[in-house]
Amino acid sequence: MHVALVTVGDELLAGDTVNTNAAWLGRQLADRGVSVERTTVVPDRLADIARVVNEYHAEYDAVVVTGGLGPTHDDKTIEGVAAAFGRDVVESEEALSWLEEHGGYERADLTDGTGHVPEGARVLPNHEGVAPGCIVENCYVLPGVPAEMKRMFEEIEDAFDGDGRHVTVVETDEPESALLDRLAAVQERFPVKVGSYPGERVSVKFEGTDRELVQEAAAWFEARVDSVDD
Ligand code: ATP
Ligand code: MG
Repeated sequence: MHVALVTVGDELLAGDTVNTNAAWLGRQLADRGVSVERTTVVPDRLADIARVVNEYHAEYDAVVVTGGLGPTHDDKTIEGVAAAFGRDVVESEEALSWLEEHGGYERADLTDGTGHVPEGARVLPNHEGVAPGCIVENCYVLPGVPAEMKRMFEEIEDAFDGDGRHVTVVETDEPESALLDRLAAVQERFPVKVGSYPGERVSVKFEGTDRELVQEAAAWFEARVDSVDD
């Protein structure tokens, strides 16, 4: 399954807020064996959101969007997604009654625009906040607030299934440039994904759907490098 992430927010582009939603979702999806193919950050601007969501929903199996969903002037996510699918934004009766029944709100106290979703969308209740998320075709729209986003992801996580992923990391003190021959050799020998991540040490990550193969590849490589605890 191939998925694209779209995170909406001027503050993300300006570097005022670190895009932890993208990192968290990327990890959740990867752990389920889903391949995350794109993460795009767009400003709080209707046309930009619409263009990217429109492109990605045609190209990938699913699109996960996070961004401001509330009725505040700068929360353009719902309108942008609606435009991507050529739908109007409507007030969802289902969302408003959920807020009355479970959120403890009086309908009259809710700001105008609360409960707005693209027409025909499936509403996702917001257990940690107010504004609901929604599902439109293969597009999953979640809040920008990290705690709200994480809780709402629980409602949709079953839609993201992959083959399961096994990962083993080998750390070495050898410089990456010295490892090239063995990195090439291990990739030739084993049909697993090999990633090399230099930092203070080099972490070499072995990844695949077959646990035994991943472990064999890692063991083969580890036996041929100066490992950290040697
Ligand atoms: P509210 O209803 O409280 O106004 P909102 O619906 O406007 O929330 P956002 O505008 O997306 O939601 O942002 C709310 C908060 O979540 C902000 O502090 C924002 O910086 C943070 N946030 C938004 N997107 C992300 C992200 N991708 N990663 C981390 N934090 C984020
Ligand atoms: Mg906002």
